[in-house]
Amino acid sequence: MKKKAILLSILAIILLMVFIIYGTGKTGGSNAMDDHVEESTIIAMDTVMTIKAYGSNAFQGIAAATEEIYRLENLLSTTKEGSEVYRINHANGEAVQVSDETTYLIKEAINISSQTGGALDITIYPIVKCWGFTGDEFRVPEDSEIQVLLNDVGYDRVVCSDGFVKLAKGQMIDLGAVAKGYAADRVKLKLSEAGVENAIINLGGNVLTMGTKPDGEKWSVGIKNPFSTSELTGAVSIDAKAVVTSGNYERYFEKEGKRYWHILDPQTGYPADAGVVSVTIVTDSSFLADALSTAVYVMGPEKTRELYEKRGDFEYILITNNGETIMSENISFIR
Ligand code: AMP
Ligand code: MG
Repeated sequence: MKKKAILLSILAIILLMVFIIYGTGKTGGSNAMDDHVEESTIIAMDTVMTIKAYGSNAFQGIAAATEEIYRLENLLSTTKEGSEVYRINHANGEAVQVSDETTYLIKEAINISSQTGGALDITIYPIVKCWGFTGDEFRVPEDSEIQVLLNDVGYDRVVCSDGFVKLAKGQMIDLGAVAKGYAADRVKLKLSEAGVENAIINLGGNVLTMGTKPDGEKWSVGIKNPFSTSELTGAVSIDAKAVVTSGNYERYFEKEGKRYWHILDPQTGYPADAGVVSVTIVTDSSFLADALSTAVYVMGPEKTRELYEKRGDFEYILITNNGETIMSENISFIR
């Protein structure tokens, strides 16, 4: 785990240096042109993140956005000792004072939990850990172990108000299901503050677009074929929107011919198996798209339909276990 963290950090530094040299070389000295484009790839939040921004302010925008990603990683990581989430998780049932931003995120995640019947539940973390999905030391736990840990799962036992967060003893939280989505919204804000109008942000599969493509056309966001991930199953055509996919191919391991993946059902403590292997959500906010993609994976097609009719502010593409595609009406999916 430590070795992996060191390797990731070295890779991140190299990529950042390449980006700085490349970026400086392209923009340095001259008055940048409007068709100027900058692209940067970094490793953060345990995933690959790419930002492609257009226009004369692209370089400054990406620099500010990159700083913002690292700031959020330091705030929300479950494994970094100084992070607010780490402090919340190690408070042994005591209230912990945290930033407004962290309380806002926890409250918003809990909101989605209550709207999805607990399909999204940030208190699932001890079980995520026990399967080894934190740190990639995968294992199939004993059922008795899962049953004991399930006793402490329950978003309704998280107290979150006035800059304080208090978990019940034994509970731990993980914002992994929403953090990258939120980070993409913040990246968009940083780019926009720098004057960038057209960009495509991809934080480990959490895609958020700004404006249009430079030629004025809509963006096209590819959706991976969950049964053959080197191929696309199609693409969504969008204006400025968030497109977030949760899939059973993103983080998984196999044991004795059986696949175990990282999205868990908070009711059972086992990998969610509601009949879908890939869920794509399209909506305005990347935070919402991220939260819903995880929740919908746990909920499956029927409950998702009910939520869709109730909320009316998102679109979806589901790929079922047997390869069928189920979509909401107002989505432009090109195969
Ligand atoms: P995502 O890739 O956005 O679907 O988020 C999956 C990540 O969220 C996992 O790697 C876990 O860290 C965490 N997680 C897994 N299952 C759940 C769940 N039901 N509710 C909340 N977080 C979850
Ligand atoms: Mg998610």
